[in-house]
Amino acid sequence: MVSVSDAQAIILNLVQPLDRQRDTELVDLLVADSRILAVPVTSPLDFPHWDNSAMDGYAVRYEDVQRSSSENPAVLKIVEHIPAGYQPQSTIQPGQAARIFTGAAIPAGADTVVMQEKTRREENRVFILDAPKPQEFVRHKASFYQAGTQLLPAGIKLNASEIAVLAAAQCPQLSVYRRPRVAIFSTGDELMTVDQPLQPGQIVDSNQYALAALVRQSGAEPLLLGIVKDDPVALEKVIAHAVAIADIVLSSGGVSVGDYDYIDKILESLKAKIHIRAVEMRPGKPLTVATFPSASTDAINRVSTHSPLYFGLPGNPAAVLVTFWRFVLPAIKKLSGITEGWEPVFLKVRSHDELRTNGKRETYLWGKLHLIDGVYEFHQADGSQSSGNLINLAQTNALAILPVGKTLIYPQEEVQVLQLSNG
Ligand code: AMP
Ligand code: MG
Repeated sequence: MVSVSDAQAIILNLVQPLDRQRDTELVDLLVADSRILAVPVTSPLDFPHWDNSAMDGYAVRYEDVQRSSSENPAVLKIVEHIPAGYQPQSTIQPGQAARIFTGAAIPAGADTVVMQEKTRREENRVFILDAPKPQEFVRHKASFYQAGTQLLPAGIKLNASEIAVLAAAQCPQLSVYRRPRVAIFSTGDELMTVDQPLQPGQIVDSNQYALAALVRQSGAEPLLLGIVKDDPVALEKVIAHAVAIADIVLSSGGVSVGDYDYIDKILESLKAKIHIRAVEMRPGKPLTVATFPSASTDAINRVSTHSPLYFGLPGNPAAVLVTFWRFVLPAIKKLSGITEGWEPVFLKVRSHDELRTNGKRETYLWGKLHLIDGVYEFHQADGSQSSGNLINLAQTNALAILPVGKTLIYPQEEVQVLQLSNG
């Protein structure tokens, strides 16, 4: 049995990120949000593209207004009116100014903008009531970004701010990593789909639905392979198929020590290398992690480096969610091409409740973070923390973690939590 931190290290070490050349696709900017940029982006445009005004006001020559005050204002003749979107026509001469608006290009000759609140207008003359600073309110060409340098690096997730940058740089299409493919199937003779009537002894295969949602939220593509009976022949067939089509395979159930737990034996018969068989955690002890030999060729006879990672997750619904959040999500992130920030985010917060466990394994208790006067507090979910219970997992947004040997956290004591964002 390996510790949780060793298991994380082993798993992340096994993950090969998608390939920069082979595993990419072109997408339109409008649908590129949440995708991972596969190539660095440079722009031939400077930002700003030209000197422009940061204010509504008057473009002036600093020399003309440096000693202005309300008692002794400089008086300038307005020679042009420049709204945003138009090219200035004149060159500002001594004693002249141009009316200018935010975002409009600074006319030649002018070097400073006086905000309109510091002026008084009389027909085609403007009185400057306060001396500006030299070059005040001018946004200089290339002061935000210089053409030809790197605008965005590869390996970042595209959120609204990056999309805005790419739009401004006129990138209508982008090369992003394809979505990782994650095959999912459930094992167990007792499992039925959500729409089948249940006979005595049968339950719904909720893990398939939970994993499909988690995988989709992680940005990967779920490939749903359904329910497989506890039958070695059927299991071997589905595992062989899953590893052929997916980057990551997730099965649930059948990895414990019961008579019908066949997964590990089948993985061995398929020549998989098993790296982890059990983890010192609760819930989630029976967790199998395996890799398959990568020597295969694709349709045009190229040697493929396809080497899928297999997670045999436990069957219990709470254990499935906890092991996904703790181990599978970081693996999907690393695989997806993101260059950093794969590991889970841990916070130290105050516990609202007394938290108890037996201290034998690292324990994950589910609940909710509440913001109390700007400070996070962990509230344990009411009801059973049994790994077979999934009902009180609804609304979970954090897991409190009690390390091995720790049996009790008092109310108001600090506890480490794993914060769950989307996925
Ligand atoms: P197993 O590891 O296969 O013995 O499963 C452990 C427990 O999880 C048993 O109570 C199973 O009925 C339950 N279980 C297994 N697979 C699923 C599933 N896909 N959805 C819901 N519960 C499951
Ligand atoms: Mg089972």
